[in-house]
Amino acid sequence: MLKKPEPTFRESVDLMFNRAVALMDLPPGLEEKIRVCNATYTVRFGVRLRGQIKTFTGYRSVHSEHMEPVKGGIRYATAVNQDEVEALAALMTYKCAIVEAPFGGSKGGLCIDPREYEEHELELVTRRFAYELAKRDLISPSQNVPAPDMGTGEREMAWIADQYSRMHTTDINARACVTGKPPHAGGIQGRVEATGRGVQYALREFFRHADDKKKAGLQGTLEGKKVIVQGLGNVGYHAAKFLTEEDGAKVIGVIERDGGLYDKDGLDIEGLHRYISQHGGVKGYYSGEYVVDSRHLLEEECDVLIPAAVEGVINMNNAERVKAKLIIEAANGPVTAPADDVLRKKGTVIIPDMYANAGGVTVSYFEWVKNLSHIRFGRMQRRQEEARHQLLVDEINRVLGEAGVEAKLSASFTEAYLKGAGELELVRSGLDDTMRTAYQAMREVWHEHDDVTDLRTAAYLVSIKRVAESYQAKGL
Ligand code: GLU
Repeated sequence: MLKKPEPTFRESVDLMFNRAVALMDLPPGLEEKIRVCNATYTVRFGVRLRGQIKTFTGYRSVHSEHMEPVKGGIRYATAVNQDEVEALAALMTYKCAIVEAPFGGSKGGLCIDPREYEEHELELVTRRFAYELAKRDLISPSQNVPAPDMGTGEREMAWIADQYSRMHTTDINARACVTGKPPHAGGIQGRVEATGRGVQYALREFFRHADDKKKAGLQGTLEGKKVIVQGLGNVGYHAAKFLTEEDGAKVIGVIERDGGLYDKDGLDIEGLHRYISQHGGVKGYYSGEYVVDSRHLLEEECDVLIPAAVEGVINMNNAERVKAKLIIEAANGPVTAPADDVLRKKGTVIIPDMYANAGGVTVSYFEWVKNLSHIRFGRMQRRQEEARHQLLVDEINRVLGEAGVEAKLSASFTEAYLKGAGELELVRSGLDDTMRTAYQAMREVWHEHDDVTDLRTAAYLVSIKRVAESYQAKGL
């Protein structure tokens, strides 16, 4: 029998969507309206570089406008194509719905290998791409708000914000046209770490539920859990860093472009990350065993596998051999639909992308709100909060003194208690709350419906229901 080919990324997303929607009772036709991408814009533009004109191809896809602005990153990679951008835009719709970020879904991409260009060249290309999108309202604080994704970061977002401002000189909200900007250029504290931080908060929440751990064959806390991470980029690095430094997990494997590293006693993430940025890969790092064919590391025994690189890495070819008990999709679409079927049947628990990596867009939402309100979070309350805490500390110490008790509240407690929350603390608190609440909504569906056997289907059910309600409330 001929083996079926692997579906494309967008087909995979649609297959998973269909699986969930089959369990729902939506008004006829609404299912299709939600599934399809509303529009995808392709642009080709020329930039004069190194004495010649170089033509670039870029995309911005809008999946659903049930809420506006629509939101989603801009990716720089040579493999960017329409199918991928549309799949990613669809995931943004579901992602925003699950974490209750009031946006529709969108995504953009530019076919470019940013490593091949100098900074000033990238600036020219980015500004031109931003111009092309902004003039069609595909960048706009009220209509479409991009953010970083693979191959882009704070620097590109600052250029985009500036380009938009130059084109809309009287728009007081111009800075809200893009998120993921540097803090000194209208950004927010904690945005760079946000997606990795969200992965940590998601795992912490998962480990709070005995029933869920049982389904994955896990127990206890994150302490000592064996983790393998694919991709030590922004998301993978932060997730690995926080899980090892703050939760006592052990990263026994790291997979990178040029190979993998394995160390059963755990790798030093900070050191390795520094090494990768200096040498461009993991080969030659002083600790761990270097594995040339790093794909095998995806199939290694571990408690938690974190694919944090590109889509489609767990597919029909390797799904059967993947031994991780729990997979948390820090990347978008790392598991194809057929691989998802295989893993589900094997009993592997998957915390799905649309929830697992939603930390980025959650903090983007905070940044957008900050830009529109023109004030830093915590600016009004911080000192007042500290003054109230001081009152309480003074009163407790006074009462203790009057009662003749020698002891006072300790200096370390007093210091920690007195400190009012700054922007970073507030962002982390908002993100933690978001990740917990969204997980609980998902797990409720997972546990309460007999025909929902996995978290991905549960996630789709929660988000599709919210999108459908929004369409039903406001019309199409
Ligand atoms: N590119 C990120 C994602 O895929 C962030 C999107 C955003 O912050 O709007 O979720």
